[in-house]
Amino acid sequence: MIAIVGAGPAGISAAETLRRKTNLPITIFSAEKCPPYNPAVLTTYLKTGGDEIFWKGKDVFERLNVDARIGEKVEKLDAKRKKITTEIGDYEFEKIIVASGSRLYAPLKGLDLPNVYNFKSLTQVRELRSKIVRGECKKAVVVGGGFQGTEIALTLREIGIDVTLLEATDRIMPERLDKKASKFVEKVLEDKGVELVFNSFGTEFAADSSGVCKAVVTENGEEFPGDVFVAATGMIPNVDFCKEELDTAKGIVVNEFMETSQKDIYACGDVCETKNRVTGERGVFANYWNAVRQGKIAALNALGYKIPYEGSDVINSLKKLGFHFIVAGDVSGNNYQEVEDRGNYWRFYVKNGRLVGYIIVGDISNAGIFYRIMVSGFDIGRFGKPLFTLKDSDFASFSTKFKYQQSHHHYR
Ligand SMILES: Cc1cc2nc3c(=O)[nH]c(=O)nc-3n(C[C@H](O)[C@H](O)[C@H](O)COP(=O)(O)OP(=O)(O)OC[C@H]3O[C@@H](n4cnc5c(N)ncnc54)[C@H](O)[C@@H]3O)c2cc1C
Repeated sequence: MIAIVGAGPAGISAAETLRRKTNLPITIFSAEKCPPYNPAVLTTYLKTGGDEIFWKGKDVFERLNVDARIGEKVEKLDAKRKKITTEIGDYEFEKIIVASGSRLYAPLKGLDLPNVYNFKSLTQVRELRSKIVRGECKKAVVVGGGFQGTEIALTLREIGIDVTLLEATDRIMPERLDKKASKFVEKVLEDKGVELVFNSFGTEFAADSSGVCKAVVTENGEEFPGDVFVAATGMIPNVDFCKEELDTAKGIVVNEFMETSQKDIYACGDVCETKNRVTGERGVFANYWNAVRQGKIAALNALGYKIPYEGSDVINSLKKLGFHFIVAGDVSGNNYQEVEDRGNYWRFYVKNGRLVGYIIVGDISNAGIFYRIMVSGFDIGRFGKPLFTLKDSDFASFSTKFKYQQSHHHYR
């Protein structure tokens, strides 16, 4: 018997892989009371309310013939006994795959107040959508100008809501962009009518006398009033139920086979810490495709295969701008080459003759090529021409086989 904790992209990928290979009983525990959904399209759901959020179909558990324990949150893991405890009971398994993902991390007071939402839960986004549909939302304040906060702000604007976006630093997506790159995004936000407030550190969602949130208060005492508030300040791995049993650092520590520190227990997705496939650095590399690949590897190895994980990609693709915007790999420091051409922008970070990161704004026709060059560690000097002019045919003259044929820039 095999258990999977969590029915997000990693858990579902693990379940699909297991079922392809075995008839063994599979049990999947899922804390949220709804069919499995893809968090990467929650902003689309906010707008449409459509069933595409259930990207594997609402009947996925029946199709996979798994015992789905929906709404049954795992409260404790006993690693030695391979025992899972929920509020309903105890269960023992032969193998356990932990795919419990991440939840909102927000160092602000008042998170539980009515009118405060986050995009780490479909239930929350449904409530926000209902409020919008009822016409009870004219003004929103989004706290956090990272990828998700930016996408949420743009979506709310598309719906016709006035939006203020508060960001603690001086730029959008501060962990990935410098001010120059941020400007591409800032311009779109401003053109679309999002009020951008930089250097504004939200400390509290403040309630009125009826106990409902009415404003975000910042460190310097400013108040930003609204009808709804969204916290988009970061994420933290869901390890509460297992952190005493499994080694954790930034997330659950796994080896290249997605094995945790305890025998027969595997982890995958946003809950675990893996290796960056380009730099080797360890961290939680939260994106859809990493979660899916890890889920697959964890499942295969739980079945006795010995398949190593190649490492995680660090790729963010910002949606809703009206043009493509991709940030990949290590984009830190000032050591880069850049090209601007007819509204498109490419920036390449090269270390020791190797492409380690890039930013693309606009034309992504060569994105797959850049990705392959980056992950294969190819010596870019061998091309003898600028990276942004490369075409697939340029590879034909080199004997090196590119290991990674697929570009995973897009999760759909
Ligand atoms: C708003 C938003 C936009 C995003 N956009 C993109 C994008 O454009 N591209 C991209 O690649 N990625 C995007 N991501 C990231 C991507 O969605 C995540 O990396 C991916 O969902 C990780 O999958 P996961 O299965 O590891 O974790 P999760 O999706 O977090 O799923 C974990 C599941 O485990 C359940 N769970 C947690 N604790 C327990 C417990 N104790 N017991 C039982 N069940 C439990 C949770 O309820 C949840 O269903 C976005 C994420 C968000 C929130």
